[in-house]
Amino acid sequence: MFPQCGRAGQGCGLAFSRLVWYNGGMNRVNFHEEMLKTLQAVPKGERLLLHSCCGPCSSRCLELLKDAFSVTVFYYNPNITDAAEYAHRKSEQLRLLRETGWADVLECGYDPGEFYAAAAGLEGEPEGGERCRACFALRLGRTARAAAEGGYGWFCSTLSVSPHKNAALLNEIGAALERQCGVRWLQNDFKKQDGYLRSVRLAGRYGLYRQSYCGCEFSQRPAPGEGVKKED
Ligand code: SF4
Repeated sequence: MFPQCGRAGQGCGLAFSRLVWYNGGMNRVNFHEEMLKTLQAVPKGERLLLHSCCGPCSSRCLELLKDAFSVTVFYYNPNITDAAEYAHRKSEQLRLLRETGWADVLECGYDPGEFYAAAAGLEGEPEGGERCRACFALRLGRTARAAAEGGYGWFCSTLSVSPHKNAALLNEIGAALERQCGVRWLQNDFKKQDGYLRSVRLAGRYGLYRQSYCGCEFSQRPAPGEGVKKED
């Protein structure tokens, strides 16, 4: 499952080997430091489209990004396969933005079928495995495409706030999409410098709902001998 910039089924034809995805050198990059340097250097007011997974994670990211960029949140999460759960998380996302004024919103549709298609054959994968790679590629790919279509200079995602999400992999996917779509990917690892803890505190300040699982129905299934784990 490789990231593509074109519309669904109309990728631009570039494919990337798994060697690219797991470039060992990327693990040595301090993505958070690189992001802080970019925030210092970027001209004020450049437009950034931020894929957001949920209100709590976005709170930490927006706190860092809002003074450097003109940020628009893109809540594209067909991986939340339960429609009521999706609606609840989205409404909390929108409430946070209303109360803080930290970003605008670019609306998009909700079709869990897009996730099921991307995850086909990977249903039994553990969290953090191949299904999640496909899920990241789906969500970041759609964000990159929307950013290109909307004339944004940058795109980014909140996903690295979670201690469960592999920042090196997310940055590999983002960099590949940058090359395909011509929109700059903002390198990041938002969990650094107690970023996750900060997101928990901000969620408390704004009374945000914090979900107990990642999003897809498969992430709700406990591993043998375990209960449903808490999503961080
Ligand atoms: S566990 Fe989370 S990241 Fe992985 S496929 Fe499911 S929703 Fe996507």
